Amino acid sequence: MSVDSIAEKVLSGGRLNDEEALELYADAPTSLLGRLADTVRVRKHPTGLVTYIIDRNVNYTNVCVARCSFCAFYRPVGADEGYVLGFDEIFQKIEETLAVGGGQLLLQGGHNPDLPLEWYEDLFAAIKARHPKFRLHALSPPELLHLSRLSQRPVSDVVERLVQAGLDSVPGGGAEILVDRVRRLLHCDTKATADEWLSVMRAVHRAGLRSTATMMYGSVEHLEERVEHLCRLRELQDETGGFTAFITWSYQPPNTELGGPEATGIDYLRTLALSRLVLDNFDNLQASWVTQGGKVGQLSLAFGANDMGSVMIEENVVRAAGAEYCMDEAEIVRNIEDAGFVAKRRNMEYDVLGDPFFREQPVPRRTELAVARKGGDTALPAELVRYPARSGAGKKRRRVTNEA
Ligand code: SF4
Repeated sequence: MSVDSIAEKVLSGGRLNDEEALELYADAPTSLLGRLADTVRVRKHPTGLVTYIIDRNVNYTNVCVARCSFCAFYRPVGADEGYVLGFDEIFQKIEETLAVGGGQLLLQGGHNPDLPLEWYEDLFAAIKARHPKFRLHALSPPELLHLSRLSQRPVSDVVERLVQAGLDSVPGGGAEILVDRVRRLLHCDTKATADEWLSVMRAVHRAGLRSTATMMYGSVEHLEERVEHLCRLRELQDETGGFTAFITWSYQPPNTELGGPEATGIDYLRTLALSRLVLDNFDNLQASWVTQGGKVGQLSLAFGANDMGSVMIEENVVRAAGAEYCMDEAEIVRNIEDAGFVAKRRNMEYDVLGDPFFREQPVPRRTELAVARKGGDTALPAELVRYPARSGAGKKRRRVTNEA
C-alpha cells in the first residue's frame, strides 16, 4: 500500500496492520504523521482539554540485581551509594505532595533482594492508615515479578496481597521494547521477557487494577521492533481494556553501560504520532517532557498527545542519565494554554479533578525537582531491621546495625 492509501485508511477509522504501520513510520513525511495523529486525537478528545496529574515520582531504593545496560540509576547490592528510603522519609514526601495539590505517589525502585514482600505491604498499609484517600500508583511489572520470585508466590497472589495493603494502580515501566532479541541485548530479559511483562499486566488487569503502558525506544532496536511492541500492547488492550494511557520516551544514554547517541526530537515526535495511530484502543497518550524538555513536550500536543503527564515534584531515574528538565504546575499549564488547549487536573484514571490547583491557592514556584535523598546519605532506615535480608551484604549490614 502507498503512504497516501494508508493515510486514507487512518482517516476513515481503519486499524493499521504491522506492515502498514511500518511503512508510515519509515516513509511518511513528519508533517503528515503529525496531521494524522492530531486528527485521531481530536476524534478521541474533541473538547480541547489537555490534562496533567500532580504526583511525585519516588524511587524507594536504587539497589538492583537486574543491572540493565541502559540504566544509569541502579547501584549493585553492597555498593556504597545504595540506599533504601525509610517510611518516615516517604511520609514526609507525601506531606509535601499534598501541600502542592497532589494526591498520588508513583512509587518504583530497583529489584532489591533485601526488601521482602512484607516490607511493601507494611509500607502501603502505613501510608493508607495515615492518608486513606492518597493513591499508590506503584511497582512496574518487573518489580512485581521480582517480588513473585523472591516470595515464591504467583504474581496474582503478590498483586492480591499488595491490593489488600493499599495498591491502587500499576505503572507500565520496564517494558522497554517488548521483543526478546532487544531485551537480551539490553540485559533486561532476565528481569522480565516480553511475554512475562505482558502476562504480569494481564494479571494486574484481571485483579481489577488499571495500569499505564510505556515504550523506551532509541537504543538497539529496529523500527520493526518498535511497531511489534505497539502491536503487542494493542493486542493486550483488546483483551483486557486495562490500560489507561501510553507513554513513550527515548533512551537516555549518559552514564549508562550501553552508551551511544540519544534519539532526536523528530524521532520522538514521529514515534509518538505513530503510537497514536497504532494504539487505536488507547484513549490517552502522555507527552514525555521529562526526557524531551518542555518545548518538545508542548509540540507533542500536535503529534497525538492529549496529556502532559505529571507535575513531577521529584525525579531520580532520568536525572541519573543527565536530563534535568523541570516544570512546575504553573509552567505546565502555561505550555498547555499557549498551545491553545484548556488545562485540567486529573487522577490516574483520567477523571478530571478540576482547574489548576495553583489558581485555587498559592503554591511555591519550583525551579528544580527534588531527589530521593541528599547525595551521599545512605543511612539504613530503622524499620529495616524488622525484615530479613537475603543478600550477604544485606545480612552483614543488618547484623552490624542490630549489634550497635
Ligand atoms: S531499569 Fe530498573 S530493573 Fe533495570 S537496572 Fe535500572 S532499576 Fe534495575
